[in-house]
Amino acid sequence: MVSDLFGTPEHESFRQTVRKFVDQELAPRAREFDEMGRIDKALFRRMGELGFLGLRYDEKWGGADLDWSFSAVLFEEIVRCDNAGVSMGISVHTDMATPSLHQFGSDALRAEFLVPAIRGETVSAIAVTEPDAGSDVAGIKTRAQREGDDWVINGSKTYITNAATADWLCLLAVTDPAAGHGGFSQIIVPTDSPGLRYDLLDKIGNWGSDTGLFFFEKVRVPVANTIGEVGRGFQQQMMQFQDERLVACVSSVAGAQLLWERTVEYAKERVLFGKPLSKMQVTQFKFVEMMTDITAARELTYACVRKRVAGEDATREISMAKLVCGRMARKVADECIQLHGGYGYMKESAAGRAFVDTRLISIGGGADETMIHYLAKMLGL
Ligand SMILES: Cc1cc2nc3c(=O)[nH]c(=O)nc-3n(C[C@H](O)[C@H](O)[C@H](O)COP(=O)(O)OP(=O)(O)OC[C@H]3O[C@@H](n4cnc5c(N)ncnc54)[C@H](O)[C@@H]3O)c2cc1C
Repeated sequence: MVSDLFGTPEHESFRQTVRKFVDQELAPRAREFDEMGRIDKALFRRMGELGFLGLRYDEKWGGADLDWSFSAVLFEEIVRCDNAGVSMGISVHTDMATPSLHQFGSDALRAEFLVPAIRGETVSAIAVTEPDAGSDVAGIKTRAQREGDDWVINGSKTYITNAATADWLCLLAVTDPAAGHGGFSQIIVPTDSPGLRYDLLDKIGNWGSDTGLFFFEKVRVPVANTIGEVGRGFQQQMMQFQDERLVACVSSVAGAQLLWERTVEYAKERVLFGKPLSKMQVTQFKFVEMMTDITAARELTYACVRKRVAGEDATREISMAKLVCGRMARKVADECIQLHGGYGYMKESAAGRAFVDTRLISIGGGADETMIHYLAKMLGL
């Protein structure tokens, strides 16, 4: 099913441009990126040339000045490359590590880091999670201490996507341990800074992306690399999470839809006990239930996108959508692997890959329980 989200001729034309790129340049290399364990950096440059990397960003910095509906179209199409890791690596760059820089960064910082990122000349990563603090963001310990005009950074960050590919990190660090939620800052840290090193981690899924553990030992960057005001990092990161979560919702729905379509095709061809699997009533019930769940998740996601396009705060809806989409994607993957039988368990099967890849959605970018925790607070419970 083609999305009807804001189906203007501009959206349709943009969708066709992305689809062509995905079909001709991304999908043919999907398995190669699994083997590499990361995306070829040249691909970011190509997406920069095509104007995909700064869709919502100001033209002044090389962006396209479009709205969230175009970001939704981009990821609905990128998901078709059939490599969740690749999709995640790209979305980290476009929607997880750069939104704060665009919204709050100084002009000098945007000129130095955002412009090349939008062109795809550099790749970014977001560094929030630490070995001892993930869901509890305010519990992070990585410390940036001011020495003259520099920050000196010590600590570690883990599970960082684009670890080996990134040229710079959007780091969340403690700049004033006594200031509570006013004691954090977002700081741009080039990955070639002396004292910064990483180890790659081995994941059960999302093989097309590189995930790593970073160590900061007296890493020195200018205080001018602070995004926005010193002490506003926690609040800015909470806002940045909204884009991260919404892109996860869009990708989950598009991925589930694609897997559903493929599984229907498989069930039509697979004959057992003298008839196609798709003709068994129990199979039809499963397909209908899955499509109902996918549609419900899509409508909630689109409601979030519409709010974002209208410039409204969608934190509550995005938290709900993240919860719903993560659970839906896992359920669809589980049903689809079952419907594929033994073949579903093979590494080459899309259902098998989805089974491990979708598991991340309910953990990364705020676990299901984190969403429930926020929602309970927002609902005044
Ligand atoms: C493949 C991958 C890529 C990632 N990429 C990045 C990245 O690029 N940058 C980055 O900064 N981080 C990244 N992460 C980290 C991810 O965001 C964290 O794993 C996630 O936020 C959960 O944190 P944690 O792993 O420390 O789990 P913990 O915080 O230890 O949580 C453990 C479990 O506790 C439960 N829980 C959470 N909150 C509550 C609550 N309020 N009440 C009850 N139970 C609760 C949940 O089930 C949760 O999963 C990535 C993770 C993975 C696996």
